[in-house]
Amino acid sequence: MSLPRVGVSACLLGRPVRYDGDSRPHAWIRDVLPGYAELSPICPEMEAGLGAPRPPVQLVLMGGQVRALGVADSQLDVTPVLSVWVREQAIRLEALDALILKSRSPSCGLGDVPVFSVEREVLREHQDGLFASWVREHFPRLVLYSDVWLEESQQQAEFLSLLMKKNAGS
Ligand code: SF4
Repeated sequence: MSLPRVGVSACLLGRPVRYDGDSRPHAWIRDVLPGYAELSPICPEMEAGLGAPRPPVQLVLMGGQVRALGVADSQLDVTPVLSVWVREQAIRLEALDALILKSRSPSCGLGDVPVFSVEREVLREHQDGLFASWVREHFPRLVLYSDVWLEESQQQAEFLSLLMKKNAGS
Protein backbone atom coordinates (compact mmCIF):
# COMPACT_ATOMS: atom_id res chain seq x y z
CA MET A 1 0.00 0.00 0.00
CA SER A 2 1.35 3.46 -0.84
CA LEU A 3 1.96 6.02 1.88
CA PRO A 4 -0.75 8.59 2.57
CA ARG A 5 -0.05 12.04 1.13
CA VAL A 6 0.03 15.00 3.47
CA GLY A 7 0.35 18.65 2.44
CA VAL A 8 2.26 20.73 5.00
CA SER A 9 2.78 24.47 5.37
CA ALA A 10 6.35 24.76 4.11
CA CYS A 11 7.55 26.89 7.03
CA LEU A 12 6.80 23.95 9.37
CA LEU A 13 9.30 21.85 7.42
CA GLY A 14 12.04 24.43 7.93
CA ARG A 15 11.74 26.16 4.57
CA PRO A 16 12.67 29.89 4.81
CA VAL A 17 9.36 31.10 3.38
CA ARG A 18 7.91 33.28 6.13
CA TYR A 19 7.41 37.03 5.63
CA ASP A 20 10.65 37.66 7.58
CA GLY A 21 12.59 35.07 5.56
CA ASP A 22 12.59 32.68 8.52
CA SER A 23 10.88 29.33 9.15
CA ARG A 24 8.98 27.68 12.01
CA PRO A 25 10.12 24.05 11.95
CA HIS A 26 7.98 21.57 13.85
CA ALA A 27 10.31 18.74 14.88
CA TRP A 28 7.73 15.93 14.84
CA ILE A 29 6.22 16.94 11.49
CA ARG A 30 9.62 17.45 9.87
CA ASP A 31 11.54 14.52 11.36
CA VAL A 32 9.03 11.80 12.33
CA LEU A 33 6.02 12.15 10.03
CA PRO A 34 8.03 11.38 6.84
CA GLY A 35 8.29 7.81 8.17
CA TYR A 36 4.51 7.46 7.84
CA ALA A 37 3.47 9.74 4.99
CA GLU A 38 4.67 11.37 1.81
CA LEU A 39 4.91 15.08 2.62
CA SER A 40 4.15 17.82 0.11
CA PRO A 41 5.32 21.34 1.13
CA ILE A 42 2.96 24.18 0.31
CA CYS A 43 3.31 27.93 0.93
CA PRO A 44 0.45 30.03 -0.41
CA GLU A 45 2.21 33.38 -0.05
CA MET A 46 5.46 32.28 -1.72
CA GLU A 47 3.72 30.30 -4.44
CA ALA A 48 1.45 33.25 -5.19
CA GLY A 49 4.62 35.19 -5.96
CA LEU A 50 4.89 37.42 -2.88
CA GLY A 51 8.53 36.42 -2.20
CA ALA A 52 10.48 36.28 1.06
CA PRO A 53 11.14 38.48 2.87
CA ARG A 54 7.90 40.37 2.18
CA PRO A 55 5.73 42.89 4.05
CA PRO A 56 3.58 41.08 6.68
CA VAL A 57 -0.18 41.06 6.15
CA GLN A 58 -3.16 40.62 8.44
CA LEU A 59 -6.86 39.98 7.93
CA VAL A 60 -8.98 43.13 7.86
CA LEU A 61 -12.76 43.40 7.52
CA MET A 62 -13.36 46.00 4.83
CA GLY A 63 -16.63 46.65 3.02
CA GLY A 64 -18.11 43.47 4.50
CA GLN A 65 -15.29 41.31 3.12
CA VAL A 66 -12.24 39.86 4.88
CA ARG A 67 -9.09 40.94 3.06
CA ALA A 68 -5.34 40.42 3.58
CA LEU A 69 -3.84 43.89 3.94
CA GLY A 70 -0.33 45.07 4.84
CA VAL A 71 0.26 45.49 8.58
CA ALA A 72 2.18 48.73 8.03
CA ASP A 73 0.74 49.71 4.64
CA SER A 74 -3.02 49.44 4.27
CA GLN A 75 -2.67 50.21 0.56
CA LEU A 76 -1.04 46.79 0.18
CA ASP A 77 -3.83 44.32 -0.60
CA VAL A 78 -2.63 40.80 -1.46
CA THR A 79 -6.16 39.34 -1.49
CA PRO A 80 -6.49 39.27 -5.31
CA VAL A 81 -3.16 37.53 -5.96
CA LEU A 82 -3.75 35.00 -3.17
CA SER A 83 -7.30 34.33 -4.36
CA VAL A 84 -6.14 33.61 -7.92
CA TRP A 85 -3.45 31.21 -6.64
CA VAL A 86 -5.86 29.46 -4.27
CA ARG A 87 -8.34 28.71 -7.03
CA GLU A 88 -5.58 27.01 -9.04
CA GLN A 89 -4.89 24.40 -6.31
CA ALA A 90 -7.84 22.06 -6.76
CA ILE A 91 -6.01 19.24 -8.57
CA ARG A 92 -3.14 19.32 -6.10
CA LEU A 93 -5.50 19.18 -3.13
CA GLU A 94 -7.52 16.32 -4.60
CA ALA A 95 -4.36 14.18 -4.43
CA LEU A 96 -3.91 14.73 -0.66
CA ASP A 97 -5.25 12.76 2.30
CA ALA A 98 -4.54 15.48 4.86
CA LEU A 99 -3.22 19.00 5.21
CA ILE A 100 -1.26 20.37 8.18
CA LEU A 101 -1.34 24.15 8.35
CA LYS A 102 0.60 26.73 10.34
CA SER A 103 -1.41 28.33 13.14
CA ARG A 104 -2.34 32.04 13.24
CA SER A 105 -1.23 32.78 9.68
CA PRO A 106 -3.48 35.06 7.59
CA SER A 107 -3.15 32.47 4.81
CA CYS A 108 -2.81 29.11 6.59
CA GLY A 109 -4.34 29.52 10.07
CA LEU A 110 -7.21 27.19 10.98
CA GLY A 111 -9.78 28.97 13.13
CA ASP A 112 -7.22 30.95 15.11
CA VAL A 113 -6.50 34.03 13.01
CA PRO A 114 -7.49 37.49 14.29
CA VAL A 115 -9.56 39.81 12.11
CA PHE A 116 -9.06 43.55 12.49
CA SER A 117 -11.21 46.56 11.71
CA VAL A 118 -9.97 49.16 9.23
CA GLU A 119 -8.80 51.07 12.32
CA ARG A 120 -6.86 47.90 13.23
CA GLU A 121 -8.79 46.99 16.33
CA VAL A 122 -9.38 43.26 16.90
CA LEU A 123 -12.93 42.34 15.84
CA ARG A 124 -12.68 38.57 16.32
CA GLU A 125 -10.01 35.96 17.02
CA HIS A 126 -11.17 32.74 15.39
CA GLN A 127 -11.10 33.23 11.63
CA ASP A 128 -9.56 30.83 9.09
CA GLY A 129 -6.75 32.20 6.92
CA LEU A 130 -7.64 32.83 3.26
CA PHE A 131 -6.20 29.54 1.98
CA ALA A 132 -7.53 27.50 4.92
CA SER A 133 -10.99 28.98 4.47
CA TRP A 134 -11.11 28.03 0.79
CA VAL A 135 -9.85 24.50 1.49
CA ARG A 136 -12.41 23.98 4.26
CA GLU A 137 -15.22 25.10 1.95
CA HIS A 138 -14.21 23.12 -1.14
CA PHE A 139 -12.57 19.98 0.33
CA PRO A 140 -14.73 19.03 3.31
CA ARG A 141 -13.36 15.45 3.32
CA LEU A 142 -9.72 16.47 3.57
CA VAL A 143 -8.30 15.93 7.08
CA LEU A 144 -7.27 19.40 8.25
CA TYR A 145 -4.86 19.83 11.16
CA SER A 146 -3.09 22.77 12.72
CA ASP A 147 0.52 22.40 13.89
CA VAL A 148 -0.58 23.30 17.41
CA TRP A 149 -2.82 20.21 17.50
CA LEU A 150 0.28 18.02 17.10
CA GLU A 151 2.35 19.01 20.12
CA GLU A 152 1.53 16.04 22.39
CA SER A 153 2.42 12.41 21.65
CA GLN A 154 -1.23 11.36 22.05
CA GLN A 155 -2.34 13.97 19.47
CA GLN A 156 0.36 12.73 17.10
CA ALA A 157 -0.77 9.11 17.55
CA GLU A 158 -4.41 10.11 16.90
CA PHE A 159 -3.41 11.92 13.73
CA LEU A 160 -1.45 8.89 12.47
CA SER A 161 -4.35 6.59 13.24
CA LEU A 162 -6.75 8.88 11.33
CA LEU A 163 -4.35 9.01 8.42
CA MET A 164 -3.92 5.22 8.25
CA LYS A 165 -7.71 4.66 8.38
CA LYS A 166 -8.24 7.18 5.60
CA ASN A 167 -5.49 5.63 3.50
CA ALA A 168 -6.87 2.12 4.00
CA GLY A 169 -10.33 3.29 2.94
CA SER A 170 -9.22 5.17 -0.17
S1 SF4 B 1 2.18 30.13 7.34
FE1 SF4 B 1 1.63 29.50 5.26
S2 SF4 B 1 1.85 31.35 4.01
FE2 SF4 B 1 2.94 31.70 5.94
S3 SF4 B 1 5.05 31.11 5.52
FE3 SF4 B 1 4.04 29.31 6.39
S4 SF4 B 1 3.32 28.19 4.61
FE4 SF4 B 1 3.80 30.24 3.90
